[in-house]
Amino acid sequence: AGAGPAGGTGTGGTRAVVAGVEVPTDHFIGGEWVASAERFDDISPIDETVIARVSRAGEAEVDRAVRAAHDAFPAWAALGPAGRAAHLHRLADAIEANVGRLAAVECADMAMLLESLRLRVIARGAANYRSYADLAVSYEERDWRSKGTWNRVQRMPAGPAAVITPWNAPFMLSTWKTAPALAAGCTVVLKPAEWSPLACALLAELASEAGLPPGVFNVVQGIGEEAGAALVRHPLIRRVSFTGSPDAARHIGVSAARNLVPFTGELGGKGPLIVFDDADLDAAAKKAAGQYDDSGQVCLAGTRLLVQASIRDEFLKRFHAHADAHVLGDPRDPATTISPLIHPDHLARVEAFVARAREAGDTVVRGGRWVGDGLHYEPTLIEPKSNDSEIVQREVFGPVLTFQTFADEEEAVALANSTEYGLSGIVYTSSMGRADRIGRRIRAGIVWVNTFLVRDLTAPFGGVGISGIGREGGDYALDFYSDLKTLQILDGSVG
Ligand code: NAD
Repeated sequence: AGAGPAGGTGTGGTRAVVAGVEVPTDHFIGGEWVASAERFDDISPIDETVIARVSRAGEAEVDRAVRAAHDAFPAWAALGPAGRAAHLHRLADAIEANVGRLAAVECADMAMLLESLRLRVIARGAANYRSYADLAVSYEERDWRSKGTWNRVQRMPAGPAAVITPWNAPFMLSTWKTAPALAAGCTVVLKPAEWSPLACALLAELASEAGLPPGVFNVVQGIGEEAGAALVRHPLIRRVSFTGSPDAARHIGVSAARNLVPFTGELGGKGPLIVFDDADLDAAAKKAAGQYDDSGQVCLAGTRLLVQASIRDEFLKRFHAHADAHVLGDPRDPATTISPLIHPDHLARVEAFVARAREAGDTVVRGGRWVGDGLHYEPTLIEPKSNDSEIVQREVFGPVLTFQTFADEEEAVALANSTEYGLSGIVYTSSMGRADRIGRRIRAGIVWVNTFLVRDLTAPFGGVGISGIGREGGDYALDFYSDLKTLQILDGSVG
């Protein structure tokens, strides 16, 4: 094993030392570390240095990984839910035993707050494997009699699954997606995002140490348009599960359609955060300022603040007070509440959004500048000239919120539903009737009332419109990774 980004080679393939942790930088295919001739640089958002040079898969490595998944599939499927659950609980144990290493690497790689990784995010990865393992075991095949026959619905594992994940929550989302695939009996080829690939390499290593059979869990590293595209068009892939941007989803969906393979896409968001005059105003203002967490790189964020006109000034006063309390800094420092953006290109993208908003006549109420050091951008609030402004209608995926007022429920719902997105919504009100009315009328996969980001892993999860296609979560995900079959036996014909 070698130190530094260039790394060294050994039985674990080429490795780099990142945040004091040795991390594999090659692909994990069929239980072996496989290097590519070409590599790409992985930079840390904390100081913009190259922390690893990662193998860059082309068609050949992807083909090898899919074939490994294909070969491993029959035995993994034959294990049954209980056999697979034993493996997945061991993987969860391994994750729990390595929280510190995983958190340190993920923090260096994508700058999520270290404390939040240590206390919550990595543990959620283990919980994902445990909950899907148990759910698959507890599945009750539905059976009933009709038309002189006995009917039963059975789940058949679908085959090798392609799983493609984004850079903003690489470890958590990769576990969230591979857990139901593996529990349902699919084998997996995971392609993590090229801006934050390292925690998934550690995950592959843990899967191997936990005893998952070779070929069941494969990771190929590389660029979306190369490795990702080759993976989703591979003819042996039977499911495609993607989380990322609507633009990439359109390409991936076309490949899946060509192969007649089911596809789920968890895509971008532009969620409304609606505050009514009967709400706990301070709680609402605090949560609104909390939308700057993770520098706004959260798909579910409520980035459009919609506030009842009668409480405009009082809300803004409280919002600014909470926003002022944010500390921009190093994600390893416990005092930091907002970490840097993922990449210089992403900072440039956020800056360009705000520049275009200014040019279009929108009013920057707070922030609106690069901090002047590193990849931090000021928490920004923009009052748009109109609801048609780009800053209202497009996902920025940075610390940029918009502020609009509404007169009544009718207008609140109209504004909430006025974008092409529909991933999430947040409502603050103290009225049950209003919570129910507004909750029913918002066009989104999830609506939170007086809270945010609370998740029950058995609930359906996904988006409406350009925010997504298909649903993950609980049995919805296990069904996606299965082919459902009906068995029918003529009454009295068997003894
Ligand atoms: P992205 O679409 O650029 O990339 C996501 C992944 O897809 C990466 O691994 C990338 O390499 C790969 N990819 C890109 N083009 C591809 C192609 N043509 N074929 C195959 N693979 C390809 O998205 P991103 O910038 O990494 O992530 C940010 C986006 O993800 C935002 O829009 C955000 O809202 C969304 N997101 C959604 C959810 C959700 O659950 N709905 C969660 C997190 C992030």
